[in-house]
Amino acid sequence: MVWPSGHLDVESAGGGRFGSDPHSLLNEWQAAIEWMAEARPGAEGAIEFSELGPPLPRPRQIFAVGLNYAEHAEEAGHLREGVPQVFTKFPSCLAGPNACVEVPGPRLDWEVELVVAMGAEAHSVKPEKAWSVVAGLMVGQDLSARDVQLAGAAPQWSLGKSYPGFGPTGPVLVPLANLDHPEDLEIECLLNGEPVQHARTSQMVWPVPELIARLSAVCTLYPGDLIFTGTPAGVGNRRLPPRYLSQGDHLVSRIESLGELSNTFRAAGA
Ligand code: ZN
Repeated sequence: MVWPSGHLDVESAGGGRFGSDPHSLLNEWQAAIEWMAEARPGAEGAIEFSELGPPLPRPRQIFAVGLNYAEHAEEAGHLREGVPQVFTKFPSCLAGPNACVEVPGPRLDWEVELVVAMGAEAHSVKPEKAWSVVAGLMVGQDLSARDVQLAGAAPQWSLGKSYPGFGPTGPVLVPLANLDHPEDLEIECLLNGEPVQHARTSQMVWPVPELIARLSAVCTLYPGDLIFTGTPAGVGNRRLPPRYLSQGDHLVSRIESLGELSNTFRAAGA
Protein backbone atom coordinates (compact mmCIF):
# COMPACT_ATOMS: atom_id res chain seq x y z
CA MET A 1 0.00 0.00 0.00
CA VAL A 2 1.34 3.45 -0.90
CA TRP A 3 0.54 5.94 1.83
CA PRO A 4 0.19 9.68 1.43
CA SER A 5 2.85 11.67 3.28
CA GLY A 6 2.27 14.60 5.59
CA HIS A 7 -0.08 14.79 8.53
CA LEU A 8 -3.60 15.84 9.43
CA ASP A 9 -5.91 16.14 12.40
CA VAL A 10 -7.96 12.96 12.30
CA GLU A 11 -10.82 14.43 14.32
CA SER A 12 -11.42 17.47 12.10
CA ALA A 13 -10.46 15.90 8.76
CA GLY A 14 -12.68 12.91 9.52
CA GLY A 15 -15.64 15.14 10.32
CA GLY A 16 -15.78 13.79 13.88
CA ARG A 17 -16.19 10.21 12.70
CA PHE A 18 -13.16 8.90 14.58
CA GLY A 19 -12.84 11.39 17.45
CA SER A 20 -9.53 12.67 18.81
CA ASP A 21 -8.58 9.75 21.03
CA PRO A 22 -6.19 7.28 19.38
CA HIS A 23 -7.78 4.46 21.36
CA SER A 24 -11.18 5.21 19.85
CA LEU A 25 -9.55 4.98 16.41
CA LEU A 26 -8.60 1.39 17.21
CA ASN A 27 -12.20 0.47 17.86
CA GLU A 28 -12.83 1.00 14.13
CA TRP A 29 -9.34 0.17 12.95
CA GLN A 30 -10.16 -1.36 9.58
CA ALA A 31 -12.41 1.55 8.61
CA ALA A 32 -9.76 3.98 9.85
CA ILE A 33 -7.07 2.28 7.75
CA GLU A 34 -9.22 2.55 4.64
CA TRP A 35 -9.99 6.19 5.41
CA MET A 36 -6.31 7.00 6.02
CA ALA A 37 -5.27 5.42 2.72
CA GLU A 38 -7.59 7.88 0.92
CA ALA A 39 -6.82 10.89 3.11
CA ARG A 40 -5.00 13.88 1.64
CA PRO A 41 -2.81 15.28 4.39
CA GLY A 42 -1.34 18.73 4.03
CA ALA A 43 1.65 20.35 5.66
CA GLU A 44 -0.28 22.97 7.60
CA GLY A 45 -0.49 22.86 11.37
CA ALA A 46 3.13 22.01 12.14
CA ILE A 47 3.68 19.22 14.65
CA GLU A 48 6.15 19.79 17.48
CA PHE A 49 7.65 16.31 17.47
CA SER A 50 9.51 16.87 20.73
CA GLU A 51 6.15 17.17 22.50
CA LEU A 52 4.60 13.93 21.25
CA GLY A 53 3.18 11.64 23.90
CA PRO A 54 2.89 7.86 23.63
CA PRO A 55 0.82 6.88 20.56
CA LEU A 56 -1.47 4.76 22.75
CA PRO A 57 -1.43 6.33 26.23
CA ARG A 58 -4.04 4.19 28.01
CA PRO A 59 -3.78 0.49 27.11
CA ARG A 60 -5.97 -1.71 29.25
CA GLN A 61 -3.09 -4.17 29.50
CA ILE A 62 0.62 -4.13 28.77
CA PHE A 63 2.30 -7.50 28.34
CA ALA A 64 6.06 -7.81 28.27
CA VAL A 65 8.23 -10.78 27.42
CA GLY A 66 11.65 -11.55 28.84
CA LEU A 67 14.50 -13.51 27.32
CA ASN A 68 13.05 -13.60 23.80
CA TYR A 69 16.34 -13.39 21.89
CA ALA A 70 18.70 -16.35 22.25
CA GLU A 71 21.85 -14.28 22.77
CA HIS A 72 20.17 -12.19 25.47
CA ALA A 73 18.82 -15.31 27.22
CA GLU A 74 22.36 -16.67 27.22
CA GLU A 75 23.94 -13.45 28.53
CA ALA A 76 21.30 -13.44 31.29
CA GLY A 77 22.12 -17.04 32.14
CA HIS A 78 18.74 -18.55 31.26
CA LEU A 79 17.68 -21.48 29.13
CA ARG A 80 15.40 -20.63 26.22
CA GLU A 81 13.34 -23.81 26.22
CA GLY A 82 9.92 -24.02 27.81
CA VAL A 83 7.50 -21.10 27.70
CA PRO A 84 7.89 -17.34 27.26
CA GLN A 85 8.66 -15.34 30.41
CA VAL A 86 5.68 -12.96 30.73
CA PHE A 87 5.32 -9.94 33.02
CA THR A 88 3.70 -6.50 32.84
CA LYS A 89 4.82 -2.93 32.73
CA PHE A 90 2.09 -0.99 34.57
CA PRO A 91 0.50 1.54 32.16
CA SER A 92 1.49 4.50 34.36
CA CYS A 93 5.08 4.01 33.11
CA LEU A 94 4.27 4.99 29.51
CA ALA A 95 6.06 8.02 28.09
CA GLY A 96 6.50 9.80 24.78
CA PRO A 97 9.23 9.11 22.24
CA ASN A 98 11.37 12.06 23.36
CA ALA A 99 10.74 11.93 27.10
CA CYS A 100 13.38 13.00 29.59
CA VAL A 101 13.27 10.25 32.23
CA GLU A 102 14.14 10.69 35.90
CA VAL A 103 16.85 8.29 37.11
CA PRO A 104 15.36 6.70 40.25
CA GLY A 105 18.38 4.72 41.39
CA PRO A 106 21.87 3.44 40.67
CA ARG A 107 21.11 0.55 38.29
CA LEU A 108 18.93 1.93 35.48
CA ASP A 109 19.26 -0.24 32.37
CA TRP A 110 18.12 -0.09 28.73
CA GLU A 111 16.18 -2.63 26.61
CA VAL A 112 15.11 -1.67 23.09
CA GLU A 113 12.02 -3.66 22.04
CA LEU A 114 9.52 -4.09 19.25
CA VAL A 115 6.08 -3.15 20.63
CA VAL A 116 2.93 -4.70 19.16
CA ALA A 117 -0.35 -2.76 19.41
CA MET A 118 -3.49 -4.86 19.32
CA GLY A 119 -6.24 -3.88 16.88
CA ALA A 120 -9.02 -6.28 17.87
CA GLU A 121 -10.40 -8.16 20.86
CA ALA A 122 -8.86 -11.60 20.80
CA HIS A 123 -8.96 -14.82 22.79
CA SER A 124 -7.48 -18.19 21.79
CA VAL A 125 -6.00 -16.87 18.55
CA LYS A 126 -4.07 -19.38 16.47
CA PRO A 127 -0.57 -18.29 15.36
CA GLU A 128 -1.56 -18.31 11.67
CA LYS A 129 -4.34 -15.78 12.42
CA ALA A 130 -2.38 -13.65 14.89
CA TRP A 131 -1.23 -10.85 12.59
CA SER A 132 -4.90 -10.18 11.72
CA VAL A 133 -5.57 -8.90 15.26
CA VAL A 134 -2.58 -6.53 15.25
CA ALA A 135 -3.14 -2.81 14.55
CA GLY A 136 0.48 -1.91 14.09
CA LEU A 137 3.98 -1.75 15.49
CA MET A 138 6.14 0.82 17.23
CA VAL A 139 9.44 1.16 19.02
CA GLY A 140 9.60 0.74 22.79
CA GLN A 141 12.12 1.03 25.61
CA ASP A 142 11.68 -1.37 28.51
CA LEU A 143 13.65 0.74 31.00
CA SER A 144 14.52 -1.34 34.04
CA ALA A 145 15.69 -0.51 37.57
CA ARG A 146 17.77 -3.65 38.15
CA ASP A 147 18.10 -2.94 41.88
CA VAL A 148 14.30 -3.10 42.31
CA GLN A 149 13.81 -5.85 39.72
CA LEU A 150 16.27 -8.21 41.40
CA ALA A 151 15.61 -7.35 45.07
CA GLY A 152 14.16 -10.08 47.24
CA ALA A 153 13.92 -13.83 46.93
CA ALA A 154 12.25 -13.87 43.50
CA PRO A 155 12.58 -11.21 40.76
CA GLN A 156 10.17 -8.21 40.83
CA TRP A 157 10.14 -7.76 37.08
CA SER A 158 6.91 -5.78 36.81
CA LEU A 159 7.68 -3.36 39.64
CA GLY A 160 11.29 -2.78 38.59
CA LYS A 161 10.17 -1.82 35.09
CA SER A 162 7.35 0.59 35.96
CA TYR A 163 8.75 3.85 37.37
CA PRO A 164 7.31 6.96 35.69
CA GLY A 165 8.81 7.31 32.22
CA PHE A 166 10.03 3.69 32.06
CA GLY A 167 7.95 2.92 28.95
CA PRO A 168 8.81 5.34 26.14
CA THR A 169 6.94 4.28 22.97
CA GLY A 170 6.50 5.65 19.47
CA PRO A 171 7.46 7.80 17.74
CA VAL A 172 4.20 6.83 15.99
CA LEU A 173 2.04 3.74 15.61
CA VAL A 174 2.86 2.32 12.17
CA PRO A 175 -0.12 0.38 10.78
CA LEU A 176 0.68 -3.19 9.88
CA ALA A 177 -0.63 -2.53 6.36
CA ASN A 178 2.30 -0.14 5.89
CA LEU A 179 4.97 -2.77 6.55
CA ASP A 180 6.23 -5.18 3.90
CA HIS A 181 7.96 -7.58 6.28
CA PRO A 182 6.84 -6.92 9.86
CA GLU A 183 8.41 -10.17 11.09
CA ASP A 184 11.97 -9.16 10.15
CA LEU A 185 13.06 -5.63 11.12
CA GLU A 186 16.48 -4.35 12.11
CA ILE A 187 16.48 -3.27 15.77
CA GLU A 188 19.19 -1.28 17.52
CA CYS A 189 19.99 0.85 20.54
CA LEU A 190 22.67 3.53 20.86
CA LEU A 191 23.94 5.02 24.11
CA ASN A 192 25.54 8.44 23.64
CA GLY A 193 26.06 7.50 19.98
CA GLU A 194 27.69 4.14 20.72
CA PRO A 195 25.85 1.03 19.43
CA VAL A 196 24.98 -1.19 22.42
CA GLN A 197 22.29 -3.46 20.96
CA HIS A 198 21.82 -4.66 17.38
CA ALA A 199 19.74 -7.55 16.02
CA ARG A 200 16.80 -8.40 13.77
CA THR A 201 13.31 -9.10 15.10
CA SER A 202 13.33 -12.35 13.08
CA GLN A 203 15.77 -13.63 15.72
CA MET A 204 13.04 -13.80 18.40
CA VAL A 205 12.79 -17.16 20.16
CA TRP A 206 8.99 -16.69 20.28
CA PRO A 207 7.91 -14.68 17.20
CA VAL A 208 4.99 -12.23 17.40
CA PRO A 209 2.31 -14.70 16.18
CA GLU A 210 3.46 -17.25 18.75
CA LEU A 211 3.39 -14.65 21.55
CA ILE A 212 -0.14 -13.56 20.64
CA ALA A 213 -1.29 -17.19 20.53
CA ARG A 214 0.21 -17.97 23.94
CA LEU A 215 -0.97 -14.76 25.64
CA SER A 216 -4.48 -15.03 24.18
CA ALA A 217 -4.70 -18.68 25.21
CA VAL A 218 -5.01 -17.30 28.76
CA CYS A 219 -5.99 -13.63 28.64
CA THR A 220 -8.47 -11.78 26.48
CA LEU A 221 -6.53 -9.15 24.54
CA TYR A 222 -8.21 -5.80 23.75
CA PRO A 223 -7.71 -3.12 21.10
CA GLY A 224 -4.96 -0.80 22.25
CA ASP A 225 -3.23 -3.38 24.44
CA LEU A 226 0.54 -3.40 24.03
CA ILE A 227 3.03 -6.26 23.91
CA PHE A 228 6.70 -5.50 24.57
CA THR A 229 8.28 -8.43 22.76
CA GLY A 230 11.66 -8.73 24.47
CA THR A 231 15.12 -7.25 24.01
CA PRO A 232 18.23 -8.44 22.15
CA ALA A 233 21.63 -8.93 23.77
CA GLY A 234 23.66 -5.95 24.91
CA VAL A 235 21.91 -4.66 28.03
CA GLY A 236 23.97 -2.86 30.68
CA ASN A 237 23.78 -5.20 33.64
CA ARG A 238 25.32 -8.10 31.69
CA ARG A 239 28.39 -6.13 30.69
CA LEU A 240 31.74 -6.48 32.36
CA PRO A 241 31.90 -4.16 34.14
CA PRO A 242 28.15 -3.45 34.28
CA ARG A 243 27.04 -0.15 32.80
CA TYR A 244 23.98 1.89 33.80
CA LEU A 245 22.18 5.03 32.70
CA SER A 246 22.71 8.28 34.54
CA GLN A 247 21.94 11.97 34.33
CA GLY A 248 22.88 13.48 30.96
CA ASP A 249 22.90 10.22 29.00
CA HIS A 250 21.19 10.08 25.60
CA LEU A 251 19.53 6.85 24.50
CA VAL A 252 18.37 6.24 20.92
CA SER A 253 16.14 3.22 20.26
CA ARG A 254 15.54 2.52 16.59
CA ILE A 255 13.67 -0.05 14.48
CA GLU A 256 13.71 -0.25 10.70
CA SER A 257 10.57 1.29 9.13
CA LEU A 258 9.20 2.36 12.55
CA GLY A 259 11.45 5.31 13.44
CA GLU A 260 13.29 6.02 16.66
CA LEU A 261 12.92 7.10 20.26
CA SER A 262 15.33 9.72 21.59
CA ASN A 263 15.37 9.76 25.39
CA THR A 264 17.46 11.73 27.84
CA PHE A 265 17.88 11.28 31.59
CA ARG A 266 17.87 13.61 34.57
CA ALA A 267 18.70 13.29 38.23
CA ALA A 268 15.91 12.68 40.75
CA GLY A 269 14.26 15.98 41.65
CA ALA A 270 15.96 17.87 38.81
ZN1 ZN B 1 12.31 -6.23 28.28
